Amino acid sequence: MRCDNGALTENLLITGASQVLTLRGRGPRRGNSLSKLGIVKDGAVLVREGRIAAVGTRAQVETRKEAKRAEKLDVGGRVVLPGFVDSHTHLIHAATRAEEYELKIQGASYEEIARKGGGILNSVKKLRAANAEALKGRARAALEEFASYGTTTVEAKSGYGLDVASELKILSLQRELKSEQRVEIVSTFLGAHVVPAEFRRMVDGPERYITLLLEQMLPEVVNEGLAEFCDVFCDRGAFTRAEARRILSEAKEHGLTPRIHAEQLSRTGATQLGVQLEAASCDHLEQVNASDIQALARSRTVATLLPGCDFYLGWKNYAPARKLIEAGAIVALATDYNPGTSPTVSMPMVLSLACTQLRMTPAEAITAATINTAYALKREKRIGSLEKGKQADLAVFEVEDYREIPYYFGMQRCWMTMKSGEIIYMRD
Ligand SMILES: [Zn+2]
Repeated sequence: MRCDNGALTENLLITGASQVLTLRGRGPRRGNSLSKLGIVKDGAVLVREGRIAAVGTRAQVETRKEAKRAEKLDVGGRVVLPGFVDSHTHLIHAATRAEEYELKIQGASYEEIARKGGGILNSVKKLRAANAEALKGRARAALEEFASYGTTTVEAKSGYGLDVASELKILSLQRELKSEQRVEIVSTFLGAHVVPAEFRRMVDGPERYITLLLEQMLPEVVNEGLAEFCDVFCDRGAFTRAEARRILSEAKEHGLTPRIHAEQLSRTGATQLGVQLEAASCDHLEQVNASDIQALARSRTVATLLPGCDFYLGWKNYAPARKLIEAGAIVALATDYNPGTSPTVSMPMVLSLACTQLRMTPAEAITAATINTAYALKREKRIGSLEKGKQADLAVFEVEDYREIPYYFGMQRCWMTMKSGEIIYMRD
């Protein structure tokens, strides 16, 4: 929390919580442990210099010497939980694709729209034409909205540039945003989103584009330290499994951790490739089969589900969350915030969809959106739960019971969001 002079207050006691969801214990969570929220009733959290100094019942925490001297914030019977970690977003883009929204409603398929120059290529054209300040302004506004829904960390992918200058522009803007605003940004290089239009006209276009990606884009991204992860959209109309293997293997040699868009439109075997390459996560998974589920269950690769995308596209084939959980996979949830298939920054809405459409319980959904997504971004030791020593990243919801967080849908119930002990959103 900041005082009037902008300095971080030394100690802050957050008290009067009907429930504090600590998510304490070892992460990541699989199977039954997804349901264990580590709830403390009538709870309090003591924050010291941006970190959690103590968590417990009000009686336990308030008797501590530092708590007595601390500034107090009574949350009036609301629920406190770790800030959401959104591990899959396409943060920087130039404009909406509202015109395609209408076409989709009228019956045009995702792939028909893509063939007519819509879809991802539409966003690429707009991004290349946009100036940096406009892109940054749009992303900054989105980050404020992320915070207003309780999100404290977002992964952000490039992938709407698809030429050397534009991909570097996106990742550089992300780096600038990191230093000037409070929601933490984790950068992923997604030069392999689709093959850009100018290469599609060539017979060996995909091969030439991959060469450009591997010989020019990737080394520059690595040299400039612009990304931690490398992602590939491995699907019909994007990149094949063999191409994804080549790109991600090379990225791994350069020190980037792989992650992969897998089995969304069709089953390509991307999930098993992700597991073989020890990817941080395989994301989407609508079309996984039984052996893919087993492969994920036996691995440390996170199964990230993006139900906002299926909801927005009006599809009925949501990913098989229950089978993944029962098999023992590390299930996570993210928004997939992007202009074409999931225009939302709301993790609470994703939780609502996870409960009603994926049949996850509210507790499983909250775990999947906090400690498990923190693990998917290799940050589980620092964020994703409310435990002593961890960063004070938390959200306070205007509810008495955590189940009300997904129960309300499309409603703004977040009351306050805190990043490293600093309030970054507070409802009026
Ligand atoms: Zn995506």
